[in-house]
Amino acid sequence: MVEQLGRSGIEVVDVYASYDNHLALESVSFSLNSPFYSLLLGPNGAGKTTLIKVLVGLLKPLKGRVSVYGFNPLTEKNSLSKLVGYLPQPGTSRPSSFIKIRDLVAMGYLSTKRPPRFVSDEVEKVVSDSLRAVGLEDLADRYLNSLSSGELHRAIIASTIARSPRLLLLDEPLASLDFNSKCELAELLLKLHRDRGVDIIMSTHEITHCAYFNPVVILINRKVLAYGSMREVLTVDNLRKAYPSITEVSGLTILAEDHAVKR
Ligand code: ADP
Repeated sequence: MVEQLGRSGIEVVDVYASYDNHLALESVSFSLNSPFYSLLLGPNGAGKTTLIKVLVGLLKPLKGRVSVYGFNPLTEKNSLSKLVGYLPQPGTSRPSSFIKIRDLVAMGYLSTKRPPRFVSDEVEKVVSDSLRAVGLEDLADRYLNSLSSGELHRAIIASTIARSPRLLLLDEPLASLDFNSKCELAELLLKLHRDRGVDIIMSTHEITHCAYFNPVVILINRKVLAYGSMREVLTVDNLRKAYPSITEVSGLTILAEDHAVKR
């Protein structure tokens, strides 16, 4: 059941989206009431990226209603862009390697200001606050091409949070990170959520890193198969709907990805 949230959250009601004749989302409905930390979970091709694109107004649904803090992403993009930090899949838009982390973050902040734009004390403060929030203050003068994947992710997140978004929408930010970096990034997002009140929607194939704080999970495979707290959603029956090839070994249900669920 979708709540009427208005400006206090996100509502998606009976949304369909397609590419040419291929239906990528079918009758998708859910609501998230702020504050939320939510995971979009589903196999490859489930429509996670498509749903994120609908939420940021990059894709027009065939039908249905989408409200992000009371704004229509298609017709009120400018108002919404001030509230939403969108991080596409890593590698989709890599910033220039020849700038320093501090300049990337300053550019993030200055993008919210009208020209002429100067690097003032205020900008320096936002840069150092944002870098502290992601644990990169000691690397502020490093060039992007000298960073590991995990550090680059954190630098991009710092440049996004410098704009003080209300919502971070991250498309598979954990992909291509090693196990420790995945844990660190999930932890960092939780800290932003708890300390700064940033709402989070993250598409992912992996949930182990987030299991201990029991986030909201939206399990999709073109349709919403289940949504609610992770502990409610991650039942064998629900997972089997999304991942038909799961198998059971010694009482554990094993997915092709990283989830193991006890019966
Ligand atoms: P996910 O992010 O869960 O892997 P996507 O949203 O990327 O899934 O894709 C959902 C479906 O839509 C897939 O079948 C995919 O092949 C298709 N699709 C995605 N983008 C395009 C596109 N630009 N043109 C045609 N089909 C697309």
